[in-house]
This record gives sequence, C-alpha cells and structure tokens, in this order.
Amino acid sequence: MKKHNFSAGPSILPQEVMKKAAEAVLEFNGMGLSLLEISHRSPQFVEVMERARSLALELLGLEGKGYQALFLQGGASLEFLMVAYNLLENKAGYLNTGTWSEKAIKEARLFGSVVEIASSKDENFRYIPKGFSVPNDLDYLHLTTNNTIFGTQFREFPNTRVPLVADMSSDIFSRKLDFSRFDLIYAGAQKNMGPAGTTLVVVREDLLGGVSRKIPSMLDYQVHIAKESMYNTPAVFAVYVSLLTLEWLKSQGGISAMEAINEKKARLLYSEIDLNPLFQGYAAEEDRSQMNVTFNLTEPSLKEAFDRMWKEAGISGLNGHRSVGGYRASLYNALPMESVGVLVDVMSDLERKG
Ligand code: PMP
Repeated sequence: MKKHNFSAGPSILPQEVMKKAAEAVLEFNGMGLSLLEISHRSPQFVEVMERARSLALELLGLEGKGYQALFLQGGASLEFLMVAYNLLENKAGYLNTGTWSEKAIKEARLFGSVVEIASSKDENFRYIPKGFSVPNDLDYLHLTTNNTIFGTQFREFPNTRVPLVADMSSDIFSRKLDFSRFDLIYAGAQKNMGPAGTTLVVVREDLLGGVSRKIPSMLDYQVHIAKESMYNTPAVFAVYVSLLTLEWLKSQGGISAMEAINEKKARLLYSEIDLNPLFQGYAAEEDRSQMNVTFNLTEPSLKEAFDRMWKEAGISGLNGHRSVGGYRASLYNALPMESVGVLVDVMSDLERKG
C-alpha cells in the first residue's frame, strides 16, 4: 500500500506523473527507445526542454515579460554562488531566515560585501523578521520565501527598489504571488516540481551582464540562456519529470487552484495542533508555512506511542529536521488532503488515549 508521504524533499509527486515517467523509461514517444538512451539534441528531447521552459514561465505568469527559464544542475546550493557570481559587484543584502539563507550568505561572501539586513537567528528562526529597511545601494536583496527546516514563510515581501532574488525551493508553484516582483527566482526541483537533479532558474534577462568579473561558462546565466538551457547535457530525466509535474499542475487549474487546496490542508493540520493540548506549533503563528508544518509534543513521554501510531497508520517522513527536532509535516502540492486527514486522526487518537 502506498504510504502517506510527508517527506520534506525529495518528496511526493503525483501518481500519474510517476506512471508516465516510468513509461518513458521503457519507451519514449513511440520511438522504440527509452528517454534515458536518446540524445539530448534529438528533436524529441529539445521539445521537452522547450515545453518545460515555457510552461514554467506560463504558470508563473511571466511569459512575454522579459524573463528566461533555465533548468540547471547543482541544486539550489549551486545557485547560492551563481547568484553572487553573476550579480554581486559591490554589495548585496541578505535576509537571514534559516539554514538555507545562511548557506546562501556564506557563498555570496566569497564574491563581495554582504550585509545581513535582518535575521531571526535570535529565536532559532521561528519567525520572519519585519520592520527592517532596505538600503538603496544594494546590487540585490536575497531572501528565502519558505524556510523548509523551521516551517516559516514570507507572507509579505519587502518593498524595495533594488532587484529582488528569491530562493523558492520549497514553495514554488504552491501559492499565487506577483512573481514579476522578483528579478531572479531559483528552486531545486525536488519538492513541488519534480525529482532531484535539476534546478529551475527564472531570471529577468536585463538584470544580467552588469558585473566586471569574468564568469566561467557553466556558472554564467547568459551562456545558459544563449544555449537555451542546453550548454551541456541537461538532466534529461529530471527535466522530463518536471515537465510532467508542471503539466499536471496546469491540468489541476494552475497555481491558484493549488493554493486553494494547500490552504485547506494547512488549515486542517494547524487547527489540530492548536486545539489538541498534546501538540504545540514551532513557528510564530503569523509566519507559519503552508508547506512545512513544524510541531512538537507537549508531553515528550508520549513520543514512543505517537511514533508507533503514525507509522502504523501508513505515514512516512514525519520526523523533524535535526536542528529543530519534533515533527515536520510537508504538505507539498502532490500530497492529497486525505493524507492530512489520516495524520490529524492519529493526533486526535493520541489525545483520546493519552
Ligand atoms: N533552499 C531551500 C529553501 C531548501 O529547502 C533546500 C533543500 N532542502 C536548499 C536550498 C538546498 O537545495 P539543494 O539540495 O537542491 O542544493
């Protein structure tokens, strides 16, 4: 029986995407060949890449607005340094909202001056900083829209004149935003978009070309744009499965339909956390993530019983990250409402028995 998969990433993908991906491994497009054994320069794969790039822009509402979408490799972690390599000339600002922001800051410091504009480290990142001002002399401001480990999410974005760069690895395609407010967006595929192995980068083309340093080809966004995301062999399987997931997303009604379901899933789980005296949420209420719900038991002695109960209910991937402890339920797009219902039932059962 298929488990209820709350994994933080790599994570659940739609079942129909899995089936189509499995079929393509055996035979792709009636070619008598597997997707895995054809040239990335074949017309069939070139079409996959073109469709994936344009569908990503279409779903984000960025088609025809001067943006380019790329499917690169190296994970979001490589973007930590590519962003700075391509954009940091004098000084960049970073909002420090967790482990991934810290890693982005560490890489950017190799390339220039980095200012931490605001941080929530003082409370182990359980909230999103507010009320800070952003200087006008920054090359860009970088933020992490959703903090996968701590379970916090930006609801409002700083009003700033400087270019806005966002790591959206764990909430891209999950909620409606005015994506044109961002100048560069990147996201590892392995949460809401596909399997591990490719990273979506969406960049406003006129943002590029402004730094004086020489950029190695593989790290240069302009090279990848000129080569239509095929400068070298792309991660063909990961890009194809991402395309299937984006097509599934479109068939479900796009980001706004997804957002409505995601809101319901998150509301159901947070209300159980708030009503059940055995549980306590980790993140500050106003900054709670709709993607990664972090919580703890108020009675640590119940851990063994709770762990046994959720495992028996067919739930997988509920343990919190080691830097936070407790539990983390990731409610990505492909997770059905039914799975959240099963988790909430286990939590209320614990209260009844406990
Ligand atoms: N940023 C965020 C918000 C993440 O959640 C992760 C991975 N969980 C990363 C960056 C790092 O991504 P990758 O492993 O693809 O380099």
